[in-house]
Amino acid sequence: MNFYPLVVSDIVDETSLAKSFTFKLEGKYQSLFQFQAGQFLSLRLPWEDSYLDRCYSLSSSPDQELLTITVKRVKDGRASNLLNDNIKIGDIIDIAPPSGRFVPTNNKRPLTLFAAGSGITPVISIIKHTLANTQLAVTLFYANSNEQQIIFKQQLDALGQQYPERFNCHHHLSNEHGRVNETTVTDFVNDQLEQDFFICGPSPFMDLTEKAIQKLGVSDQAIFIERFISDTESTINTDLEVDSDIKSFSALLDGENHTVPYIAGKTLLESMLLHDLKPAYFCQKARCGMCTVTKTAGNVVMRNSEILSDSDKEKGKILLCQSLPLSDDISVNCDAD
Ligand SMILES: Cc1cc2nc3c(=O)[nH]c(=O)nc-3n(C[C@H](O)[C@H](O)[C@H](O)COP(=O)(O)OP(=O)(O)OC[C@H]3O[C@@H](n4cnc5c(N)ncnc54)[C@H](O)[C@@H]3O)c2cc1C
Repeated sequence: MNFYPLVVSDIVDETSLAKSFTFKLEGKYQSLFQFQAGQFLSLRLPWEDSYLDRCYSLSSSPDQELLTITVKRVKDGRASNLLNDNIKIGDIIDIAPPSGRFVPTNNKRPLTLFAAGSGITPVISIIKHTLANTQLAVTLFYANSNEQQIIFKQQLDALGQQYPERFNCHHHLSNEHGRVNETTVTDFVNDQLEQDFFICGPSPFMDLTEKAIQKLGVSDQAIFIERFISDTESTINTDLEVDSDIKSFSALLDGENHTVPYIAGKTLLESMLLHDLKPAYFCQKARCGMCTVTKTAGNVVMRNSEILSDSDKEKGKILLCQSLPLSDDISVNCDAD
């Protein structure tokens, strides 16, 4: 993955715990950093003798022609506090172009979005873009611990005034209404099932919201989830080994078919990189989803696959960075959407 030095052009205090950072888009960066509402940027931040790779969703809408991320402090978190405490206008950060699949594609069904805390970041981008470019109704359920922690309160109020017929925003404050549970979600959806559902927030919030919507009978194809999984939350079974004597696997990359020699004990991604094949990838920790490809033949086992939904898995989606081969006839398509 290529990183580009982008200059911080603006910083806004959103709440006592969150700041937005806008990056200057000049020359070639304007086309390199074009994005779809809901996508994220990958930042490489200097840390001690090394660096930290972190993903941050874009909170600006593509229509605004601004490249803005919003970062909420995580208690004792390294990157989120470094950004909030140390970064100033004029600083340069190494950033890779936008990616991610938390993007509305249907544009025919109304949207209901569930966000909690910093999970509002990709969600507000989707809301602004959808309201400005479609006639769809958009409903937001936004959970926070208290009123002071609501990120983008003014922007959401303004959107409610600008689109009173189409935008409905419901704030859930746990200091007043208690924690969100399955009943809260079910009552909110209220049998309006012919929608696309987008969910983003801390893992327990996403899990219970997804489960509640599934129980109502919504199909996996209509549920989109962005998991803000951090290094320490991601449980990768690094002990997982497979007893396999496969010699190679096939990979379609940039329109060309490659026979990739498999190196025992390595993941499919590591084997490809060791043979100078560079599919899209970033964190290598099953968090960013950038190395998702379609398996068209054979069997693999993944050390961690929690960011893939059941319907992704049914379609043959795998994470190259987590996949170990189980059969000798594996083919992957790195060009498929
Ligand atoms: C696709 C994607 C999009 C995202 N978008 C956003 C966004 O828009 N806004 C946003 O704010 N966040 C977003 N995130 C989350 C973000 O990438 C980081 O995970 C988050 O900022 C925490 O990183 P950190 O370096 O501050 O925390 P880390 O330093 O990684 O720490 C995370 C947690 O682990 C604990 N911890 C750290 N080290 C250890 C250790 N050695 N042992 C035990 N515990 C430890 C910390 O106390 C903390 O609670 C996104 C994540 C993904 C995957």
